Amino acid sequence: MADETTKAQVAQPGGDTIFGKIIRKEIPVQLLYEDDKCIAFPDIAPQAPTHILVVPKNPIVQLSQAEESDAALLGHLMIVAKKCAETAGLSKGYRIVINDGADGGQSVYHIHVHILGGRQMKWPPG
Ligand code: AMP
Repeated sequence: MADETTKAQVAQPGGDTIFGKIIRKEIPVQLLYEDDKCIAFPDIAPQAPTHILVVPKNPIVQLSQAEESDAALLGHLMIVAKKCAETAGLSKGYRIVINDGADGGQSVYHIHVHILGGRQMKWPPG
């Protein structure tokens, strides 16, 4: 299995993604949160003791393709991420990540917010 960096180098924008299948309930996940705009579920390859993804049902491909009209949805994802972090008990803090494009390490071209917590985060990130 390729690592995330390798996957990001070969991943291409366009078409349906694994997250579309998860949103349509074609692939089961442990649903941590759902509303009419987004869902949240655990990352299948966690990079921290808590690693949750928040994914909008409207498939913006990546942050660099977001438009002004997406502002409310993107803000909503942040509020949902905050709520999910609270529910997960991340009272000491957490990191929010949105990877964009190959250099940013994006491997799934359906925008998503990573919530990482449960350990000390380092800076700079890898
Ligand atoms: P990114 O590399 O920022 O595009 O993030 C994509 C994330 O999706 C990675 O952290 C993967 O581990 C995660 N992922 C891929 N497939 C699944 C899946 N079926 N369920 C949960 N997480 C997944």
